[in-house]
Amino acid sequence: MFFFKVNMTAQTFDVAIVGAGLVGSSLALALRDSGLSVALVEARAPQALPEDASWDNRIYAISSGSAQFLEQLGIWQALDAQRMTRVEAMAIFGDDGQSRLDFNAYEAGLGQLAYILENRLLQAALWRALEAAPQVHLFCPASCAALAIATDAARLSLDDGTEIPAKLIVAADGAHSWVRQQAGIKAHDKDYRQLGVVANFATALPHQGTAFQWFQPEGVLAYLPLPGNRISIVWSLQEDLAQGLLQLAPDALCARVAEAGKQRLGALELLTPAAAFPLHLIEPDVLTQPRIALVGDAAHQVHPLAGQGVNLGFADAKALAGVLAARGPRDCGDGYLLRRFARARREEILAMQLVTDGLQNLFNQPRPMLGWVRNVGLAATNRLTWIKQQLLKQALGNT
Ligand SMILES: Cc1cc2nc3c(=O)[nH]c(=O)nc-3n(C[C@H](O)[C@H](O)[C@H](O)COP(=O)(O)OP(=O)(O)OC[C@H]3O[C@@H](n4cnc5c(N)ncnc54)[C@H](O)[C@@H]3O)c2cc1C
Repeated sequence: MFFFKVNMTAQTFDVAIVGAGLVGSSLALALRDSGLSVALVEARAPQALPEDASWDNRIYAISSGSAQFLEQLGIWQALDAQRMTRVEAMAIFGDDGQSRLDFNAYEAGLGQLAYILENRLLQAALWRALEAAPQVHLFCPASCAALAIATDAARLSLDDGTEIPAKLIVAADGAHSWVRQQAGIKAHDKDYRQLGVVANFATALPHQGTAFQWFQPEGVLAYLPLPGNRISIVWSLQEDLAQGLLQLAPDALCARVAEAGKQRLGALELLTPAAAFPLHLIEPDVLTQPRIALVGDAAHQVHPLAGQGVNLGFADAKALAGVLAARGPRDCGDGYLLRRFARARREEILAMQLVTDGLQNLFNQPRPMLGWVRNVGLAATNRLTWIKQQLLKQALGNT
């Protein structure tokens, strides 16, 4: 920790957020009308949307809870509904070819289980709203050079010499957070030695708004419905298998993905080239310390098998904005105030870490006994309405 005297001639912001990904941007917007002064620092200049109607291979299953939050921010209404899919049903299969777990929006009395949405459309909508929000001071593209933390404020120094004193620094800078490291917050990093392979396909058969997921010995494969006869896949595979998949010619890749998906939607045609992301479980020791709060992947990276990473992040942004709005006479970086945020988020984050890590371990074990346990567990859960409701509640972000 560094000690310094804050230069009060430069504007001292109430909150400086580092990282304008989905989570950092949503937090800045959630604070826009709070009366707090907000700085948002982002390293990468915003990407222009492609002119053609091509599909982003980075897509998200957005929970109803996240959709409501985005609606409160005025973002949901600005999205193109034609490029969004409502997930009406979900079918999860074990690795014995028989056991399965089904969720159905209609039976649960819901309009949908989740929405499938492209990353770049959501990011662009958030960015447009930020540019129209004079209350948020944008520093972009900007690289952080140093972070100094003192008892009464913190100070972020940018590469170009700009100084940003702030009462609170929020780390929204992703899984390998620079702010987290500068603040000396240690994080447990479990490398799954897997890559999440993503790609989009046209399908011969209609998906009917159903998301499919197969837990298989080599990894977890998800088919997520896009508008029309299209799907997006997320396939978590050991690194060597994933690299092998990335090397395949388009026809061979389509055949491989269709086979792994038991030909459920017939033949596939590749729409966007496959890309891959390394998978980690990252658990920082703390979510806050005086003058620092972690949100989004900086606060927790989880295995994508439950499709909940960014949903957790939006819930962080909502919770932190709520705590700051209700701060009373306290300043934004007050350690006791920030602990309220940490307490509010602890349970949901821990539950998601346990579920995703537990499932990944359970299905990643070759031992026959575990094979029996996991498939019987899946089939039994399918018959237990109460447990299914609880799982659904968690996934919908309505906990
Ligand atoms: C294959 C895969 C599939 C997934 N599918 C889903 C899904 O279906 N549903 C779901 O909810 N989640 C999903 N996730 C998780 C989701 O992608 C992440 O949880 C989410 O993107 C995290 O958002 P973030 O804003 O916290 O971090 P990031 O998206 O990593 O954004 C961090 C931002 O900070 C900026 N930045 C970094 N360092 C600095 C710095 N020093 N200075 C300034 N700026 C900086 C970066 O440029 C970036 O813009 C998936 C993840 C993977 C890998």
